[in-house]
Amino acid sequence: MTVGVRTPLVLADAHGRVATDLRVSLTDRCNLRCTYCMPADGLEWFPTEEVLTDDEVLRVLRVAVEQLGVTKVRFTGGEPLLRRSLERIVAGTKRLRTRTGGTPELSLTTNGIGLDKRVHALAEAGLDRVNVSLDSLDRDRYAALARRDRLDAVLAGLAAAEAAGLLPVKVNSVVMRGVNEPDVVPLAQFCLERGYQLRYIEQMPLGPRHEWDRSKMVTQAELLALLGQRYRLAPASEQRGSAPAELWRVAADDTQPGGLIGVIPSVTAPFCGACDRTRITADGQIRTCLFSRTETDLRTPLRAGASEEELAQVWAGAQSRKAPSHGIGEPGFEQPARTMSAIGG
Ligand code: SAM
Ligand code: SF4
Repeated sequence: MTVGVRTPLVLADAHGRVATDLRVSLTDRCNLRCTYCMPADGLEWFPTEEVLTDDEVLRVLRVAVEQLGVTKVRFTGGEPLLRRSLERIVAGTKRLRTRTGGTPELSLTTNGIGLDKRVHALAEAGLDRVNVSLDSLDRDRYAALARRDRLDAVLAGLAAAEAAGLLPVKVNSVVMRGVNEPDVVPLAQFCLERGYQLRYIEQMPLGPRHEWDRSKMVTQAELLALLGQRYRLAPASEQRGSAPAELWRVAADDTQPGGLIGVIPSVTAPFCGACDRTRITADGQIRTCLFSRTETDLRTPLRAGASEEELAQVWAGAQSRKAPSHGIGEPGFEQPARTMSAIGG
């Protein structure tokens, strides 16, 4: 009799992709109201009892890292710094071991408010990197876009992340037509001078009121044209691979030392074919794509006492049904019911 060797479970789909990068949303709440993400009055927040507790989040993470081969974890939201126990969650995640015996790579996507006060504790807990969202360096335009006058707090957060050694500090910017196009070059200059890696993100149909309009979106081509008027740009040799950003090397000049700038052209040049992501929402739903119109409930089996092996099977099953692409622009595309902050961007 031969004894079968069990092949380890992975998050594979029917299109040849294997997910190893997990986005964990820790809350749907936020202290900003960015116009492309949330309505002015906020949203109806998830009831507290529906949000996974710290221990539940850590159990889900154990399943992902130890049973399913996840190697990278990004904490997001809503605003993940609103989760008071973030340091505890980071520390608990860093104690997990990947299939190869290493530690998972941990990063945080944040609006940066309050980061200055917590970044040292987060780095000590095992956080490797941060992405700070910043759409304007002009106080009035920042306040108009985020609907809160908090630019100084964000800049303090960025400086603190750099001082804490969470390098390279990355900055995310969404550019909206007629709103913050004048910020494209100043943001680039600010980041190049400081060695931060800036990534412009094409605005996606994930905001409130379903008012996204492709013809109004500022495209990668337009962003590059704006940057090209000021800098010498060349495609960076680094391969895009499964990374969503296309990278451009900016030549040094008298005002800045050169560096990398990325564009995430999720709409005009999607990277779906190489996507290695999976997601879990703050209320415990597996989403295999930002644009999924179906979700798989992990919270119910988690709370019903399922074993980690059983939870892993549920997740692997959900991932196997991942759609080949997000379908923006294709006939029949519909924006998902959840907006970005309720999914976890
Ligand atoms: N609150 C944190 C922050 O702002 O970084 C984390 C959550 S936020 C949803 C994550 C990222 O999604 C941010 O960089 C934000 O700019 C981006 N985002 C939100 N809505 C978007 C949209 N409609 N299209 C493209 N990016 C969007
Ligand atoms: Fe909040 Fe981030 Fe959405 Fe802005 S983009 S409203 S900071 S969740």
